[in-house]
Amino acid sequence: MWGYEADVVIVGYGGAGAAAALAAIDAGAKVLILEKNPEGGGNTKYSGGSIRTYLDVDKAVDYVETLCEGTTERAVVEAFVRESSRNPEWLREMGAEIVPHPSGTVRRFPFSFPVAYSFIRGAEGMGLRARVKGPGEDAGIDLWGLLSRKVADVSVKILYSTRAKKLLVEEAQGVIGVIASSGEKDVRVRAKRGVILTCGGFEYDQAMHLNYLGQNFFAFGNPGNTGDGIRLAAEIGADLWHMNASASAFCYKFPEFAFGIRHSMPYAGFIYVDQTGKRFMDESGTDSHFVWAPTSYVDTKTLQRTRIPSYVIFDEDTRMRGAVVLTGQGKVGDVYQWSSDNNPEIRKGWIKAAESIADLAYQINIRPDHLQMTIAQYNLQCVGGYDPEHGRAPDTLVPIGRSPYYAVAIWPCLLNTQGGPKRNARAQVLDVWGKPIKRLYSAGELGSLWHRNYPGAGNVSEALAFGRIAGKNAAAEQSVTA
Ligand SMILES: Cc1cc2nc3c(=O)[nH]c(=O)nc-3n(C[C@H](O)[C@H](O)[C@H](O)COP(=O)(O)OP(=O)(O)OC[C@H]3O[C@@H](n4cnc5c(N)ncnc54)[C@H](O)[C@@H]3O)c2cc1C
Repeated sequence: MWGYEADVVIVGYGGAGAAAALAAIDAGAKVLILEKNPEGGGNTKYSGGSIRTYLDVDKAVDYVETLCEGTTERAVVEAFVRESSRNPEWLREMGAEIVPHPSGTVRRFPFSFPVAYSFIRGAEGMGLRARVKGPGEDAGIDLWGLLSRKVADVSVKILYSTRAKKLLVEEAQGVIGVIASSGEKDVRVRAKRGVILTCGGFEYDQAMHLNYLGQNFFAFGNPGNTGDGIRLAAEIGADLWHMNASASAFCYKFPEFAFGIRHSMPYAGFIYVDQTGKRFMDESGTDSHFVWAPTSYVDTKTLQRTRIPSYVIFDEDTRMRGAVVLTGQGKVGDVYQWSSDNNPEIRKGWIKAAESIADLAYQINIRPDHLQMTIAQYNLQCVGGYDPEHGRAPDTLVPIGRSPYYAVAIWPCLLNTQGGPKRNARAQVLDVWGKPIKRLYSAGELGSLWHRNYPGAGNVSEALAFGRIAGKNAAAEQSVTA
């Protein structure tokens, strides 16, 4: 007995789910969305909302394919780049104004480059990041506002607080529906043409972090992203890809919040040190999405992860330049407004302050002589304009001079994971033998095409592009026979 039925059933109502719904409706299908949270938006709502633009689509295909290091078939890359090049136009058709995204042009640290890894083949085909114009400090909220208003305008039934927990498969016809739990009850939802999984990654499943990413992470975004789609698809034989890949940034972790607050510096007068008081990277010139890489370091003598947490160290001049966070992103905006001078956060004890480097070191449990030496050496390099070990650019070598001095622990924190069921260029989920699982589609960060070299603004672009591909193709399936 079916509780609900539709042509296309979509699991997860974030950016990919909304795009899939709109495309399936356009193609004449009746659509039903299941969302486990009481409201939609997923990570999309909490994101920076930046999307990719392109100057030359063919070169951009080369660039993305090179970044994926052979893990993603060219046909999938090509489908992504061609379809996502339509994103600005598609959003404009919905009434949006598309403007350049400031995160690629305003200099905060670590930096989100307009085109990361610009030395790679095809990089000249990549354009600037763009966003939907709106009042949001960061654009995820404006993008989500636009998409959800558009979905509300068309006829889509959305079941909130309803978690998909099993895909129903019929041998000859493939996936024919979903079992979902809604309150105390289970409901059976029939999908006559197809099911599209758009239920995000595993940012909030610590066991999966350890298993697939090799270390624990905090997360910035939607707590509903707990890897459900991976289990649903794996249970019926889907192949998985990119499970070891994620986009992450540094965050602060305070006991008041169950999620990370995104670290960002308003000025170059800062360094990162590990737990032994040593610098370990070019702090200002590393793309902010890549910080999982240096933090995954393990001291082979002690087996300690001495960079989790690390510490950002800065001085009074830098403190006065502005908030040491990206205030508009992640869940923190829902509950806390960070100050522009960081003073309330110093009073709360979130930012440690001291008149001397030695006192600061005591507070963060680092040997004072080590930290003093690191800062003295760094300041000397600022005078010479040369950082031989980490190659920090001369114009970012700003000394840590004027006291008080400040420190905050920084942790690797997930923007999103990339892994999940493998998909082809038509957004069909593939089984372990490379064959499409009948009537099962996916889109978005669940089984993303991106691997470890993530250049930013690619996940929202993918959610919208593969959402549309999946919605159109699922709607075109033959209806299941009774
Ligand atoms: C702070 C932050 C900043 C970011 N900035 C950018 C950026 O500027 N540009 C960019 O490209 N990317 C960015 N990202 C990444 C990007 O936001 C996501 O990868 C993308 O929005 C994912 O869209 P999605 O639709 O696949 O998933 P989501 O938007 O996360 O939606 C998934 C939905 O599925 C629901 N769900 C999960 N399991 C179930 C289930 N069993 N049943 C029913 N529903 C379920 C979830 O509750 C959620 O609502 C950022 C992420 C964060 C957290």
